[in-house]
Amino acid sequence: MTTAMIDLARPDYRDIPVYSPLGSDASCAVDVSDTVNLWGAPPSALRALVELPADAVARYGALYATGLKAPLAAYAGVAPDQIVIGCGSDDVLDCALRAFGEPGATVAHPAPSFSMIPAYARANGMTPAAVPLAGDDYAVDADGLLATGARVIYLCSPNNPTSTRTSREAVLRVVERAPGLVIIDEAYAEFAGESYAAQAAGWGRVLVTRTMSKAFGMAGLRVGYGVGAASIVREIEKARGPYKTTAPAERAVAAALAHDVPWMQSRVRDAVANRERLLAALRALGLRPAPSAANFVFVPTPGAAALARRMREMGVAVRLFTGLPGDVPALRDANGEALRLAVGPWETMQTVLDVLEEALG
Ligand SMILES: *Cc1c(COP(=O)(O)O)cnc(C)c1O
Repeated sequence: MTTAMIDLARPDYRDIPVYSPLGSDASCAVDVSDTVNLWGAPPSALRALVELPADAVARYGALYATGLKAPLAAYAGVAPDQIVIGCGSDDVLDCALRAFGEPGATVAHPAPSFSMIPAYARANGMTPAAVPLAGDDYAVDADGLLATGARVIYLCSPNNPTSTRTSREAVLRVVERAPGLVIIDEAYAEFAGESYAAQAAGWGRVLVTRTMSKAFGMAGLRVGYGVGAASIVREIEKARGPYKTTAPAERAVAAALAHDVPWMQSRVRDAVANRERLLAALRALGLRPAPSAANFVFVPTPGAAALARRMREMGVAVRLFTGLPGDVPALRDANGEALRLAVGPWETMQTVLDVLEEALG
């Protein structure tokens, strides 16, 4: 029975793994494995959910979350028809690949980078091409990405999982020379204080993706968006289809954008301050964390798997990465193993540090 079922599936789906990252464990007292807002959610968003009218559940929301386009556009500094909204930015990324690369096309991405990109490429019948990061600054190889001739080139800044910025030179070189769509994933842009969203529409071939999941603290509601020329937005909406976001989520996001941008900015300032303090503490433990521009830190270290296991036994869940490619000295010396820790309130960070020190000991 099981065999027969598998035989019915697309052959190119057989090697696609179901997403199951290493180290997630909600049963841990302290969980810094996901790079979400560890301070919580915007108060106005929670109020909007509590005060939800019955219609927001009984009826469909707008086809393409149209009501969120104006507030998201105002926040991103663009026009409403330059916004596409999805079920998380994951959904926008998946749809963008499908809209701009036909089956068989290549999707080039830095490595290591966001693990969903090669997965979505394969799920859409496309071929991912990994181009390793190099050097102490985890530099993106713009010419290597361009040399693949890919229909879609993906960049991520700050890059997940390495936490590092993609240099302006690399971004501009790729944007100027790419033959197809360039995606700039800015899931963590609020923490870096740097964004290409306002320029994306003018560039014409660029889609910047953003999300309500990270700085805005609304990962559970699944709302992300893309910014690009109206013609690009239209193609992605074809690939996306209607009703991908929920009416309750739309109300909560509208409330957060109207009332809690200062709340978000304040959490971002806390995260940046604690990030710098955490990086210094990690270096004092003899570790070599990457220079972070995000709300998480990336720590290449040999034996990361054993460290993550010991930390979990002591009640702290961290994200583990193994087999990472890259010509980054710290990563090479760590045999491609690393831990990723989300940054939150300092008491949480102190617990993580204490447990990490004990696990190292
Ligand atoms: C978290 C994350 C996303 C997606 O988040 P959504 O919750 O789907 O909006 C996209 N890209 C990167 C690099 C991320 O880390």
